[in-house]
Amino acid sequence: MKRLTILFLVVLSVSVVEAQHISIKKDTIQTTKDTLVLSIKNNMLSPMFFRLKVKNEEANSFKYFEKIVLQPLEKKENYMKIPRRKIDTTQGLKLSGYFDFIVGYGDPSVASHDDSYVYLLPYKKKRKLVQGNFGRFSHDHIRSYHAYDFGTKIGDTIYAAREGKVVLIKEDSNKHGRTRKFANDGNFIIIQHNDGTTASYYHLDFKGALVENGDIVTRGQKIGISGMTGFTTTPHLHFVVHKATEEDGNISVPIQFEGYEGKKLKKGKKYARRKK
Ligand SMILES: [Zn+2]
Repeated sequence: MKRLTILFLVVLSVSVVEAQHISIKKDTIQTTKDTLVLSIKNNMLSPMFFRLKVKNEEANSFKYFEKIVLQPLEKKENYMKIPRRKIDTTQGLKLSGYFDFIVGYGDPSVASHDDSYVYLLPYKKKRKLVQGNFGRFSHDHIRSYHAYDFGTKIGDTIYAAREGKVVLIKEDSNKHGRTRKFANDGNFIIIQHNDGTTASYYHLDFKGALVENGDIVTRGQKIGISGMTGFTTTPHLHFVVHKATEEDGNISVPIQFEGYEGKKLKKGKKYARRKK
């Protein structure tokens, strides 16, 4: 019983960090008399970069891989060995108390964004840009500086802005809220491009994915239904392109849209598809 509690608490504290992308679950934990051995599994169909930065020097008594690139669905055995004396029998083990987790969708050694690529606006009708690049509400981090929040309505069709492979989908949430604790409740589709970068389409509707994991999609293909799930105060589509880097994990990259090449999209203005 005590052992089960420990396992559960390890799972809980890790899944808060990166619930859908990486898992450390009961079947990936082994215990010996004095050591807890964790394996790690990449749940995405793209490679995934994972780095740990020590924030509490007690972590130096753990044995682990500091940097690792996991191939699609790859499981790494013996990823981390933790002395059992570090595990509080009532509190369990919060890995986030020992490490910062740096995560990137893709392999930093090959990902390189094609800056000449012109993206399609991922919706059709005129919609307002409710938050632009470097927006203070939530585009205030290296992962989100170059993100766009388009004020799409619940039920709007979302289209692939660029061709690629669907590498991860979440569509089982019907929750939203005004604080970051709802961040893991957003439905999304992640598509990997041929330059190793990925596009994320966030806040989709419950059961709002029109594609499946592993699908190859073309530019302009219908992929989802817009919604209002996750950390949001209004229905919208959060769209961002990420590149995996060794230093910071996912960083957002600047992109341009067809019909608006070289122009900066402005908060509060409406934008629709147009040809140049
Ligand atoms: Zn956003």
